[in-house]
Amino acid sequence: MTAVTLKNVSKVFPGDTLAVDSLSMEVNHGEFLVLLGPSGCGKSTVLRMVAGLETPSDGEILLDGEYANDLPPRERNAAMIFQTFALYPHMTVGDNIGFPLKLGRQNGAQSVPDAVGDMAGALGISDLVDRKPSQLSGGQQQRVAMGRALVRRPKLFLMDEPLSNLDVGLRAELRTEISSLVRRHDATTLYVTHDQTEALTMADRVAVMRKGVLQDVGTPDEVYERPATMYVAAFLGTPRMNLLEARVNVFLDRYVALDFGDQELRLPWHDLRGRAVARYHGENIVVGMRAEALAPVAEGHPGQSIQGRVRFYEHHGHETLVFLDIGATAVVPDGIGDKPDLARSGSKPRRRLGGLFSGFGQAPAERRGDTDSGPIRKPADLVFRLPPHIPVSAGQPITVAVHMDALHYFDKYGKRIDV
Ligand code: ATP
Repeated sequence: MTAVTLKNVSKVFPGDTLAVDSLSMEVNHGEFLVLLGPSGCGKSTVLRMVAGLETPSDGEILLDGEYANDLPPRERNAAMIFQTFALYPHMTVGDNIGFPLKLGRQNGAQSVPDAVGDMAGALGISDLVDRKPSQLSGGQQQRVAMGRALVRRPKLFLMDEPLSNLDVGLRAELRTEISSLVRRHDATTLYVTHDQTEALTMADRVAVMRKGVLQDVGTPDEVYERPATMYVAAFLGTPRMNLLEARVNVFLDRYVALDFGDQELRLPWHDLRGRAVARYHGENIVVGMRAEALAPVAEGHPGQSIQGRVRFYEHHGHETLVFLDIGATAVVPDGIGDKPDLARSGSKPRRRLGGLFSGFGQAPAERRGDTDSGPIRKPADLVFRLPPHIPVSAGQPITVAVHMDALHYFDKYGKRIDV
């Protein structure tokens, strides 16, 4: 039996906005599941439906295997934590934490002061219990809010961007604390964020959403290493995965060429990757390469490589990101921002792909209240990393070796081609 089950759950808001589109998903007991996606993709709506604050327009929500669509929030044994802390301003920290227990919602036989003391200790705020919320920093307030939610030991935590109002350092600190606290309490957690670092570091499993549709669900490694769609591939990882348009040309019994325009990569015909990609002979596919699959080499390198000229580079302290003009076409999935690259590269006007590559896994545009314009094609800036001490200059020719085992392939609908 799972802690939370969503079966074909949809939510349509007045005005015909389809916020969640036939979503099916399970959260196992004791699991930390992160719902990840950009602003407006419907993740808070999913959380609010599980909390009982919204009613599904369609589909079923089960809690511990029981039908729960109509169950009032207070009967769900779930605690919600939001990005705004909502503490009682007139009460001390200790009283804020102990408040749910005074309402009689405690689990276990511990006295209220003991439970508050233990919780404040676990959160590292024992010395603050007599202060009022106005005398606390943002991070301390969020710890109190966590303590208030945790103290009654609910079975289910529902967290909506609880760290987004905090600065970067505190966020990193509280990330670790939240995951270890809820794991210690053996609670099930559904955690909403648009921050991929939070998702990849905290989650047992990540569910990636886009425009109300679940795109992929798996462990952080699974969604990063084998993204189910081009969108997920582009959404996860920094710098963003290089997604290049390639025409597949099969040279029977010899090799399968991925033709990027001016240059090509070759897959051996006699291996599984070659065979899987060969099915797209004569068609365009998208080849994904993360920066870590690329490394600069000397010209004339005997392995598979791509040549280009440095269009621009960015120093990031620990590394330099180099953007190579390789005369190929990049594909940017709809919903993935591409403004910074365009501004710098001064590229030509973008061309929409229309039917090709458009609308994978999408609800009809008119119901979502926006237009699904499809992916964008633009001149490719192949990005790879250099150690910070290696000099680089604009216009410099560079050859990069391609780690062929680390490539990803997507069909014209943006769906992963399994190799
Ligand atoms: P964010 O990270 O910005 O909170 P989100 O992914 O959590 O975004 P939701 O808040 O679930 O997204 O919203 C999904 C869609 O539903 C959006 O288009 C939003 O405008 C719409 N929506 C949410 N709540 C309502 C409402 N009460 N009435 C009408 N439309 C709504």
